[in-house]
Amino acid sequence: MFPLAAHQLPDAVRRIATPTAGASLEATRAFRKGDILWSEPPLMSLRHSFSQRCTDSCGQCMRPLGTLSSALSRLLSLQDKPNADYRIIERLLNDKTSDSLLSKHIPCPRGCNTCFCSTQCATEASASWHGTLCSLRGQQRVAWGEFVQFAMRHCEGFILAGLVYAAVISDIERGCLLESSMRRFWCFENEQIPWPDIARFGVDLRGEMSTQDWHARRAVALKESFQLLCMALQPEAEQQSPNVEVLFDETLYSKLCGQIELTTIWISVPITPCLRNDRMHPKLMAEIKRSGIDMLFKSLVLKAQEADNEYRVPMRPADGETRSFTLSDALDRLRNESVKNSDHCNVFPDVQGMGFFKHISYINHSCCPNVVLEYRSNSNAASVVACRDVNDGDELSLAYLDFTVPWRLGDRHKHLLEGYGFVCTCDRCVGEAKEFDCVARGKKRKYEAHTRGLEFRAARTILGRIDDRVRFDANSSP
Ligand SMILES: [Zn+2]
Ligand SMILES: [Zn+2]
Ligand SMILES: [Zn+2]
Repeated sequence: MFPLAAHQLPDAVRRIATPTAGASLEATRAFRKGDILWSEPPLMSLRHSFSQRCTDSCGQCMRPLGTLSSALSRLLSLQDKPNADYRIIERLLNDKTSDSLLSKHIPCPRGCNTCFCSTQCATEASASWHGTLCSLRGQQRVAWGEFVQFAMRHCEGFILAGLVYAAVISDIERGCLLESSMRRFWCFENEQIPWPDIARFGVDLRGEMSTQDWHARRAVALKESFQLLCMALQPEAEQQSPNVEVLFDETLYSKLCGQIELTTIWISVPITPCLRNDRMHPKLMAEIKRSGIDMLFKSLVLKAQEADNEYRVPMRPADGETRSFTLSDALDRLRNESVKNSDHCNVFPDVQGMGFFKHISYINHSCCPNVVLEYRSNSNAASVVACRDVNDGDELSLAYLDFTVPWRLGDRHKHLLEGYGFVCTCDRCVGEAKEFDCVARGKKRKYEAHTRGLEFRAARTILGRIDDRVRFDANSSP
């Protein structure tokens, strides 16, 4: 549809082709645990709406905004009824130290409600996605709002696609060619799969609805979201350049949404490091911890997140399913954690969102990865950090799942297959599958079908895939 851009890769990596997982990256030299391989900002990112309610952040780079006391007030405004702890917080809020600055607050020069951390971010956004959205009026503005609401219910990735459209329209208005503008975002050849087709990946895990049903449901949602996007952003026919006409094509939109769903990475920008230079900050954080208010904050964020999740319409077999991990498990875990690590990190919630990256999105998944992403610049620019020693020629791998959640093999397998369309055959999965297979053969009767069915199927699929690969290697060797 568009020629792929020849990207200049960071020095740390070269592109390789893997037999099973498509394009990937490998290290061009050795790295020690803790080394940064490279850093890059996302091509496009989006703050989750629950996170926007919890924390004020830059519309462009996600940097936390305001002061410590505005951050406290924002979180507390999420409470249904202020509890007894509130008095301690009020005292903290009156304390001079709570005025420590996170980052400046630069409102959009055109007077919309979006705020930025710097004039640079405001200028960058205005020359891109924000310029288009900020100038929408009347019916088009209403339609954009409806598009966002619809995406919130069905798939947040639609919003990222909408932002790409807004950025490209901005470029075209400045005289850029559609092709060269779109190429920035159109970079993952194996992932440009029509969005409804992603449902087909779950084919061996079907539940009550068949894969065809899921596909049909997704096709309807995609069409509706595309119509709303057209109402919001497509210019009147007489003003429309032939360039823009190509952009408003449902197949293009569908493939862009597919690419986004398969390459998007969770972004988490911490607040606390922004305050490290403040000399009063450790005392204040210690007081917050002592009063247990950090737990209150965590439960408020979890509640905000749950409220968003409840609003969602399931679009994949895995959505809305109760896993072996619930809100109370999460709270228990956090409680234990706060005892374990007594330093003052994570009192405030991270700014959370999602985005896709020109290079990072090429790193394949592993459940025992060798790199992690860190947001060390307190913005959405991710640093790729070695989490164990990496040798020259090692393939880089990243965990697509949040491993603070205690995933079991079956859950992991199901979510990777349904969310990303692959069977993970990393060392950990194969090891666990073999172990499970041995145990299950020995004591088959002891396993309750209900809880272990998923585990059985996962182990069988993973081991089957390994057998296939052995056969494939044997056949293809000269
Ligand atoms: Zn910014
Ligand atoms: Zn604006
Ligand atoms: Zn794995």
